[in-house]
Formats: sequence, C-alpha cells, structure tokens
Amino acid sequence: MKTILTGLRANSVFTIGNYLGALLPMVRLAREHSDDYNINLFVPDLHSIISEVDGGDLQANIVRGIKYYIAAGMPLGKNVHIYRQSRVPAHSELCWILNCVATMGEMNRMTQYKEKSEGKASVNVGIFDYPVLMAGDILLYSAEYVPVGEDQFQHIELARNLAMRFNNRYGEVFTVPVSTAEQVKFMGLDEGIRIRDLLNPEKKMSKSTPAENSKIMLDDAPERAAKKIMSATTDSVGKVKFDMWEQPGVSNLLLIEALVTDTPLQDVISTWTGETRYGDLKKKVAESVSEMLGVFQAKLAEVSDEMVYELLESGERYANEVANVKLHEVQKCVGLR
Ligand code: ATP
Ligand code: MG
Repeated sequence: MKTILTGLRANSVFTIGNYLGALLPMVRLAREHSDDYNINLFVPDLHSIISEVDGGDLQANIVRGIKYYIAAGMPLGKNVHIYRQSRVPAHSELCWILNCVATMGEMNRMTQYKEKSEGKASVNVGIFDYPVLMAGDILLYSAEYVPVGEDQFQHIELARNLAMRFNNRYGEVFTVPVSTAEQVKFMGLDEGIRIRDLLNPEKKMSKSTPAENSKIMLDDAPERAAKKIMSATTDSVGKVKFDMWEQPGVSNLLLIEALVTDTPLQDVISTWTGETRYGDLKKKVAESVSEMLGVFQAKLAEVSDEMVYELLESGERYANEVANVKLHEVQKCVGLR
C-alpha cells in the first residue's frame, strides 16, 4: 500500500489561513484516500527544537495540534498513523546516514536555510541540516506523496535526489517520492490557497503577525472573529469584483466565504460581483466565519487528551515497526551490519 506523509507542525495556535490552506486540504486528502493509502501524520518535534522551546509549551502544542486535525474531521481508521518523530529513533539515525550522502554544495543551495540564517552572527547546524532529517522522515516510510507548501518544494527535491543517489550506490532501497509537480497534481490544487491579512490584504495572513485584527485565530470567540471581519480593509473602488491585484481585500473576503461555507468560489463570485455595499458582504462573511468557528470549537472540546495519547501510542508502535525495517536495510547497505 502506498503512503501519503505529512508533517503536522504544532508550534502555536493556528489562523484560519493555516486551517483553510493547510489543515482542511490535508483532511480532505486523507478522507479521499484513507481506504487505499497509509496516511502518516507525524509531529516533527525534532524540527521544533531547532530554536529553543519551552518543553511544556511544546507538549501542549503537540496535543492541541493533533486535536485540531481530529476536530477538522481527520479520519481515524486503521490506515491513519499519528506519531511523534522523536519517539521513532530511526529518524535521527537515518538522518546521520543521509548526512554522509548529502553534499555541502547542495545543502548550501537550500533557500530556506539562506533566508533563515541571513544576517545572523551564529546559526546552529540544525537549521542547516534539517532538510536531511526531513528526507529521512519521508524515506523511512517509502512515502510517495508528501503534500507540502511551495516553500518546501526544494526539500522534497532534495529527498528525491538523496534517495536516487543512495539507490544508485547501493541498489533499490528507497522509494523515490514523486516530483513536486506531481505532488501538486495529486493534491488537486493548481496553486496553494493564500488567505490574506485582514488589515494589509497585499500580504498573506500569518500567525506571527503581531496585529491581532489582521488575523483570525482558531480559538477566537466567534463574535470577536466577526468583528475582525467587519473591520477588514477593503478599497475605494466601491464595487465588488474578484481581483486579487486590484481589490485584494474584497477578493479575500470572497475567498474566505467560499472556503468556510464549502461553496465553489465561482458561485460566491457570481453572487457578489457588482455589489456596492461592502458592508453586506462583510456581514455575510462575518456570519459564515463565526458559524464555522463555533462548530469547530464545539468539536474540539469533545476531543480528550486521553484520545490523543491513545492514538499516539498505536501510531508510534506502527511507525517504529515500519521505520526499523527500513533502517536495518539501510544499515546493511552502508556496512553497519
Ligand atoms: P508564520 O508567521 O510563523 O510563518 P504561518 O501562518 O505563515 O506562520 P506556517 O507555520 O508558516 O504558518 O505554515 C503552516 C501551514 O499553513 C503551511 O502549510 C502554509 O502553507 C499554510 N499557510 C500559512 N499561511 C497561510 C495562509 N495565509 N493561507 C493559506 N495557507 C497558509
Ligand atoms: Mg509561514
């Protein structure tokens, strides 16, 4: 059975941008495929410690992150495996072995590393090396599909290159993940959805943006979220048109409306195009968003910590079994066994 693998980065409370752009598409994909694929949802906690973290916060974020997926409708059938990377020691082991296959040249080309290290006097090796750890995360489970955002495409290509290089040297050990172009096709998205910042709609909504009114968090009280929509920046054109360049604020509202009500964007656009009272549009979107949050938060409250820990226990048993078989094979190839 083929495997779809995705990292469930749980480092803080999500915005509706993360929810609509990352979490829901993953849940949809899992619902579509969990009968005929393994769905590996793992928490990359080894990646989290690249910058110093508070252990209590990290543990709380991990549990909350998993609850988010369950509340969003993640199927929990027998093919869905939820596990923490740090509880499967094979990840760290394979990372080391792949470090001996990766070259400084290719690692130095990673744009994420360049961006994250730029201008810093001192940068830890983890920031430099984490794409290799990520390659291990994928290759241990022979995952072919790894839905990621565009910022991670280069790392998927690295994983593919390391797998092919290793296979050339030692025989067909690793399954090579499909190319990023095919990943996108599999996800069913032409381009990733980008919810915009409510106050500065030229930018995307980001959880790290300090201004509270620029973003809606999944734990915002529905009334609060409604107020944020009502105060969203629009434009002075005075007529609704879906045009992310000329009217990004209004277009963002249309996009949010379509996604939270699960209506085709084209239908939402036809309903509202030409409307001159932006207030009416805002009111409708505010209602839709607060309703969506109310439903989500009620579901979230039903997921217990115990349920999360039970899922982790069985997921980690499964992950260790699969990963250790692959690691053993790799260790034999390189001469360690
Ligand atoms: P940060 O400000 O810390 O970068 P972020 O909100 O950009 O936070 P990330 O942790 O970078 O979130 O990304 C988590 C996931 O959410 C990624 O898959 C990313 O593509 C997706 N995502 C982030 N922002 C948006 C957005 N505005 N619209 C849709 N998807 C988004
Ligand atoms: Mg980001």
